[in-house]
Amino acid sequence: MERRAIEEEINKLQVEKLRIESRIISLQSQLNQNGQQKQLDDKNLSGWKTTSSPPYGDHGLSKELIYRYSRHLLLPDFGIQGQANLLNSSILVVGAGGLGSPVALYLAACGVGRLGIVDNDIVELNNLQRQIIHTEAFIGKHKVESAAAACRAINSTIDVIEHKGALLAVNALDIISKYDVVVDATDNIPTRYMINDGCVLLNKPLVSGAALGLEGQLTIYHYNGGPCYRCLFPTPPPTSACQRCSDSGVLGVVPGIIGCLQALEAIKLASSVGVSLSGRMLLFDALSARIRTVKIRERSLNCDACGENPIFTKKLFRSFDYENFTETPIFDLSCENLMLLSKEARGSSNEYEELLNNGKPHVLLDVRPAHHFQIASLPNSINIPLPNIEKELFTIDSALKEIGQCKETDSLYVICRRGNDSQIAVQILHQNGYSTAKDLIGGLISWANLVNCDFPIY
Ligand SMILES: [Zn+2]
Repeated sequence: MERRAIEEEINKLQVEKLRIESRIISLQSQLNQNGQQKQLDDKNLSGWKTTSSPPYGDHGLSKELIYRYSRHLLLPDFGIQGQANLLNSSILVVGAGGLGSPVALYLAACGVGRLGIVDNDIVELNNLQRQIIHTEAFIGKHKVESAAAACRAINSTIDVIEHKGALLAVNALDIISKYDVVVDATDNIPTRYMINDGCVLLNKPLVSGAALGLEGQLTIYHYNGGPCYRCLFPTPPPTSACQRCSDSGVLGVVPGIIGCLQALEAIKLASSVGVSLSGRMLLFDALSARIRTVKIRERSLNCDACGENPIFTKKLFRSFDYENFTETPIFDLSCENLMLLSKEARGSSNEYEELLNNGKPHVLLDVRPAHHFQIASLPNSINIPLPNIEKELFTIDSALKEIGQCKETDSLYVICRRGNDSQIAVQILHQNGYSTAKDLIGGLISWANLVNCDFPIY
């Protein structure tokens, strides 16, 4: 055989060998998913020790891992040492939602040795627009299960730990203590304070991200002498400033971008590569396509968590009431109903349906924001958003006039999305002389659940 032909043959066989090795890894991943993979030795949990071939060289990576992470190894600034550091590291992702999805996917793909995921939620259809780690097949199942399955499907050689349930002051220290780096991918203020205080107590760096509407931000707390969350926000923001995606909306890709940046910062910390965002905050504005990085306040010596005389001990932390401190619930209670009105000032969806069936003339006022009203509304309803009611009483007067009624009529009904704003609206109407105006209990969600299942819930 000619030399050239031999070389070609060798190349061909090497390509074939790589293809077979990739196929083996893929099949191992399937086995893992079906729960049939052999039990891993607890002492050898880090993924880089679980591949079939022995470590090659001092760095400890086997030839499969060298091939899997070859694009990292080719980076002069990352290289074999960065990868080995990453494989030896452990990262906790708190929240498997819009931010946590890309964080967990990238950390798994990039080869974090032990990846923990905490969440207490169930996958719902309206999560899938942004929580890209979940699929339709997992609707109704725990987000942690779904996220862990996705991570294992990408990388069966790492250790994925499921922490099903909420991270609370009573269990946070036990969970956080098992990891080197913590990623806050949650969406509520009490949990932010709690994760921060836990990380300061246990001396762990915290990669913190937030996304709402069309904007996002991220930074690293308690790292390299930088500030913690409490240094920046010693007192919680007013409750009205704490919005959630379920009320304000969020464009799916925005938490995706922030989550990717969180994953990047976590990887940099875990692999000891690059300059971290500690002491700086990155601000992202999707509408104008602008990313800015601003310097943030330095660590405060008076900080309750990381200052000279911190108030927190592990014992105090476990019993600290974060909901009371922030006046905000940890769990999204936006579906819970306010009780502002007396029984007589409220009507049910079924009563309203009866009124419609009887053809009784009436006025239905919908007090949701205009962009909500455009999604879906009840026939013949008038949209006056809650903040505008007092300015637009004349619109209500003329609608009542059209059906031959006046202010004191019992034919004025108010509806909103969940039955909270409608009660506030009725209070305003009562104060303005519409003495028998009523709201509809549970709003359009009740209407959809109790009367018309074809009415869209959003
Ligand atoms: Zn601090």
